[in-house]
Amino acid sequence: MSIPAPSYVRGIAPYQAGKPISELAREYGLQEERIVKLASNENPLGVPDSARAAMLVELDEMARYPDSNGFELKRAISRRYGVPEDWVTLGNGSNDILELAAHAVVQPGQSVVYAQFSFAVYALATQAVGARAIVVPARDHGHDLEAMRAAIEPDTRLVFIANPNNPTGTFAPAETVERFVSAVPADVVVVLDEAYNEYLPPELRFDSTALVRRFPNLLVSRTFSKAYGLAGLRVGFGLAQPELTDLLNRIRQPFNVNSLAQAAACAALFDDAFLQRSYEVNSAGLQRLQSAFTAMGLEHVPSFANFVLVRVGDAAAVYEQLLRAGVIVRPVAGYGLPEWLRVSVGLPEENERFLAALASALGRT
Ligand SMILES: *Cc1c(COP(=O)(O)O)cnc(C)c1O
Repeated sequence: MSIPAPSYVRGIAPYQAGKPISELAREYGLQEERIVKLASNENPLGVPDSARAAMLVELDEMARYPDSNGFELKRAISRRYGVPEDWVTLGNGSNDILELAAHAVVQPGQSVVYAQFSFAVYALATQAVGARAIVVPARDHGHDLEAMRAAIEPDTRLVFIANPNNPTGTFAPAETVERFVSAVPADVVVVLDEAYNEYLPPELRFDSTALVRRFPNLLVSRTFSKAYGLAGLRVGFGLAQPELTDLLNRIRQPFNVNSLAQAAACAALFDDAFLQRSYEVNSAGLQRLQSAFTAMGLEHVPSFANFVLVRVGDAAAVYEQLLRAGVIVRPVAGYGLPEWLRVSVGLPEENERFLAALASALGRT
């Protein structure tokens, strides 16, 4: 190796994404239309019509740079969530927000706390800034927030929490999160990643912006990639008090959210009918998958999101069999879960295709 680079950069294992439909079609000689992708927690309903219409209008402006301050989208978010506009940071996906948080507050050698079996990007963002990861063992596949608080060291600058969590689908209720945030030292930033918030049953949802109001070290992140059906556009946002928001905006790239994404997100944000349908299709599909797993005698982690983690034994072999049947799910060996697969909830017919292929892969037909 002749190009000088920090060892922590060379040590990064690149993110492993779900297999694209086009790639499986090429590799296995399958027709794209026949492939079912349940691998990246995308919205099976596709793009909301409201967002599509907004993008068509915006297309005429593509020769211009986007609004670097995202005025309209920030205003829309501020109205939707009842928060001041100077609380909002726009991101190229919420991954961008997670990265910005690490870059804004962590120096090389300092530490970042996150849970075992939590989102892969937390490890990547930690390594990218040359920080030391403190990985706290999971409890029943979820975050052990007591242990995470206890794991904070004097040089800890950041804690990542996903709620609901990916890849396990677990959820920490309002009281537990509030107790945790209250107990964290004020000089440690807590990122509360709520990418799957919209899939929570109404009785479990809680207003995390009320926590942001109380805690200047709290950053809530949200995304348009899941329930809003806009994963390909890459748009998400962070909510935090102005001091932290200002830090994130200093290092944010000026045009990190493109114009189509800004227009689509503005429209989708108020498309309550689409959001409601996304919720309903998901909760029915989740029930169907989980009861089928129970009927097949397969252990699964009860999920609060739009995917479910299921224990299939030799997951690499089952994954391969599913691919041959034209069904893409997500192996999670990289998370330390070699016997499990993560399957996203699809449309009813997609869920049935998956369940039939799974039964066949497990020799249950
Ligand atoms: C999918 C996901 C995100 C969203 O990523 P985007 O960059 O917004 O597409 C963030 N956090 C978690 C835990 C996720 O699973």
